[in-house]
Amino acid sequence: MEFPDLRALARAARQRGVPTALDNTWGGGLALKAFDLGEGAAVDLSMHALTKYPSGGSDVLMGSVVTRDAALHEKLLLAHMRLGIGVAANDVEMVLRSLPTLEVRYRAHDASARRIAAWLQAQSPVRRVLHPALPQAPGHEHWASHCRDAAGLFSILLDAALPAERVDAFCDALKLFKLGYSWGGPTSLVVPYDLRALRGDANRYQGHLVRLSIGLEATDDLIADLERALQALR
Ligand SMILES: *Cc1c(COP(=O)(O)O)cnc(C)c1O
Repeated sequence: MEFPDLRALARAARQRGVPTALDNTWGGGLALKAFDLGEGAAVDLSMHALTKYPSGGSDVLMGSVVTRDAALHEKLLLAHMRLGIGVAANDVEMVLRSLPTLEVRYRAHDASARRIAAWLQAQSPVRRVLHPALPQAPGHEHWASHCRDAAGLFSILLDAALPAERVDAFCDALKLFKLGYSWGGPTSLVVPYDLRALRGDANRYQGHLVRLSIGLEATDDLIADLERALQALR
């Protein structure tokens, strides 16, 4: 949820002859132009977990690596051949079926997530909402310089004074949000993260981090679900 300065990173790497690869899963190929980051900056490789929005069904595991550099493409082809990587034809078919609806689905996830993120900002015991389109979010200025769209994925920080068990109970109390790490499907997901375990001393956030992936359910129903689970925390 911390949008990086992609332009500066790509440019700094290129100046030093370092190839760059972007995990572009969050952008879904729609939110930003990996091969045209503005002011001449670009990444060399753009990668997608097709598992997420491109599949859209939470029922396929697949990925893609894309480049516009012919020499890199040759290297990738060779590595692909030597490693013997393959995908199942049925899985490919499922992703191909979903691709034409990617844009409308991405926009729907985005609109619903932004409404919910804005609503959550005013709810206790939510202390902070980390969504790159919110002006207070870390990296917001970088998001704004690259994107208008955003994925339906964001995090909230719950009051640090709450015991971790209450945070788990909040996640369990949600009925429409299922527990899950993967995202990009029709079902909304919730997962609590222990930032201190993940980041150690580098953690700069106060409170318990809970990540939400907004699915394609009615936004009002999701808000009502969150409202009910938050009520139990107050
Ligand atoms: C899920 C995810 C991956 C990995 O995708 P899988 O297909 O589930 O292995 C990689 N990058 C990002 C940003 C993801 O969200």
